[in-house]
Amino acid sequence: MPATVIRRTLDLAGLDVPVAEITGALDGPTLTVIAGVHGCEYAPMAAVRRWIRELEPAQLRGRVLAVPVLNLPAFRARSPFVVPDDGKNLNRCFPGDPAGTLAQRLAHAAFTQLIVGSDAVVDAHAGDLAEALEPFTLYDDGPAQARARELAVSYGLGYVIRQQPGPGRAVTGTTSAAAAAIGVPAVIAEAGGCGLVESAAVELHLRGLYRVLDLLGMARGGAHWEDDRPPSYLERFGWLHCDQAGWWEPQVLAGQRVAEGQVLGTVSSIDGAQVREEVRAPFGGVVLFLTSSPAVADGGLLLGVGAS
Ligand SMILES: [Zn+2]
Repeated sequence: MPATVIRRTLDLAGLDVPVAEITGALDGPTLTVIAGVHGCEYAPMAAVRRWIRELEPAQLRGRVLAVPVLNLPAFRARSPFVVPDDGKNLNRCFPGDPAGTLAQRLAHAAFTQLIVGSDAVVDAHAGDLAEALEPFTLYDDGPAQARARELAVSYGLGYVIRQQPGPGRAVTGTTSAAAAAIGVPAVIAEAGGCGLVESAAVELHLRGLYRVLDLLGMARGGAHWEDDRPPSYLERFGWLHCDQAGWWEPQVLAGQRVAEGQVLGTVSSIDGAQVREEVRAPFGGVVLFLTSSPAVADGGLLLGVGAS
């Protein structure tokens, strides 16, 4: 089989989404790597762009499908969290709906054309435009969870979270959950944030992608295991929201350990005259992400705390 790099666009819900298809000289698994499910998470996009330039198909076993920016409308509009056309969060729409709005159709197209048929999926994220974040990798319960856990650990970030189904779950409709439901091992890997292309976060994603290749037996990536350290395993992931809109002022940093009941920040009136809410940790753990913007809406997301 000839080793090839094909750069083309995929028609996903009418969008021409750039994709690199890198086929190795030897047979092997198909790894799908997606970045830019959220349009302002730049570090993973930068990492995927660099990774596909660096990959040598002659050294590769199997096939890599890589999408540096999936959510093109959000990327072009600099729209955090949502697809601007319908206001929906793409990573709550999987496995999608071919008859739905743009986000639902894009999720359906990405699910059927990128995730179905893959042997492993990495969906690379960061904190969004107004989110600071401590690097972590998330995987879901399901028939392929043992392999998904291996993928998550191999990515090499400090925390690994297992998402269980049920009411305690922070979010549904994610790429990794939809993949898990059909037995495809998948992870959501998070590093970077605040609308920046931080080189340290780009390096974390790059190292993670090379390690995943190595784990899958698709390439020799030995050099990327040098600084290997076991992650902390987390099973709880609590997302905290405010009641009322106002001015959010966190008193903690992403990555900080917090105790149960500790004040994590306040939401006050715009004029600064009145503190309306004191936000406390529901349990002891680590702050995994944090809204960095003071502007919060009614019911706005403030931060996420992970615990074992
Ligand atoms: Zn994201």
